[in-house]
Amino acid sequence: MNIEIIAVGTELLSPRFTDTNSLYLIERLGDIGLPVARRTIVGDWGEGLEASLRRAMDFADWILVGGGLGPTGDDRTREAAASALGRGLVFRPDIQAAIEERFRRRERPMAEPNRRQAWIVEGAEVLPNGAGTAPGQWIESGGKILVLLPGPPHELKTVFESSVLPRLAARGRRHASRAVIRTTGLTESEVEALIAELYPESGDCGLTVLASPGRVDLHVSASGEKAGEAEVRLNNLAGKLRDRLGSAVYGGQDDELESVVVRLLREAGATLATAESCTGGLVAHRLTNVPGSSRVFLGGYVAYGNAAKARDLGVDPSIIEAEGAVSEAAAAAMAFGAKRRMGADWALALTGIAGPDGGSESKPVGLVHIALAGPDGMTAERRVFPGLRETVKFLSSQRALDMLRRRLSGIA
Ligand code: AMP
Ligand code: MG
Repeated sequence: MNIEIIAVGTELLSPRFTDTNSLYLIERLGDIGLPVARRTIVGDWGEGLEASLRRAMDFADWILVGGGLGPTGDDRTREAAASALGRGLVFRPDIQAAIEERFRRRERPMAEPNRRQAWIVEGAEVLPNGAGTAPGQWIESGGKILVLLPGPPHELKTVFESSVLPRLAARGRRHASRAVIRTTGLTESEVEALIAELYPESGDCGLTVLASPGRVDLHVSASGEKAGEAEVRLNNLAGKLRDRLGSAVYGGQDDELESVVVRLLREAGATLATAESCTGGLVAHRLTNVPGSSRVFLGGYVAYGNAAKARDLGVDPSIIEAEGAVSEAAAAAMAFGAKRRMGADWALALTGIAGPDGGSESKPVGLVHIALAGPDGMTAERRVFPGLRETVKFLSSQRALDMLRRRLSGIA
């Protein structure tokens, strides 16, 4: 079964207005296990609206239209729906009386244009609008359902909640379950290669892979006729995905890598210090965004220049002279210095070339050395990250935090 939403309004095609009605409808339908297959935004003028309605009647079983039921000349949903269905419009004196009554209560005369709102598509059932003048309309045609809803968000919500959602739920309610699996350290294609054959074939489960810098999220959903069914399907699919992705999985919905690291440090009763060059304190910033991080994060150095690396962290200038400030030896010396001077159990150090200048053949832009000093010794990594300055800084901080997460979780 396919559900389509059509948002009507030229303003929604400008960069200044967001089609929040559709987002709301998608969320509420999702709550009862009904995914939306297509969402269309169409302007008030021209043939687009009627063409979209015809296309929707071909494709979808249930179509929800929001907007264009107002009193003004640009509100043309009634006419477009009638002509897409090959039906006429019918004037309903009772609707006009209700609108007049609404105005009377506010001690205002009804303006002539409001009369337009008393026209409904032939055969439509009127859905009362307790929050405004334009009623909604429920139309059935050839086994399909077409619902017209007023555009003002509070009116759309009022009509949808009172007259539409209960009926749709009665016809097709499903129980729904959702989960998010967050990974880091793998590219989108690497994730895809690991999970390719787990894509669900039935409509009972859904899987979407969403990549953002330094992170790939998997959105898993499942539905079922009985309560519990959805849960079982979800846990089954999510469990298989987690197995495949292994140690790349660092959390679920809303888990940030820095919160996971702080939690692991607290569980281990361990403390951390940072020494940052190219990231300019970003790792410390992310850690200190986490409530309760003061129990584990002792402090950080932003040692950007070579003199600061020597003075604040005790990096031997001869290391920088021989290997350069962006080198494994420099990163290791920074981590060692931060750990000792702060008296921490762990220390993370980063030094790199964020660009856009300063790269060379052997040390390209995006090159970062990360060192992690811990109770059981030092590990270091050389990485070359793509992107502009801020992306390189973020990806460096992400990898550094992940190195610590892995060491604290005992992952190789
Ligand atoms: P209409 O009934 O199309 O004249 O819309 C009335 C008001 O509701 C206008 O201020 C619209 O900008 C607003 N509106 C219409 N559709 C949407 C939508 N999809 N999302 C948010 N606001 C909307
Ligand atoms: Mg409009």
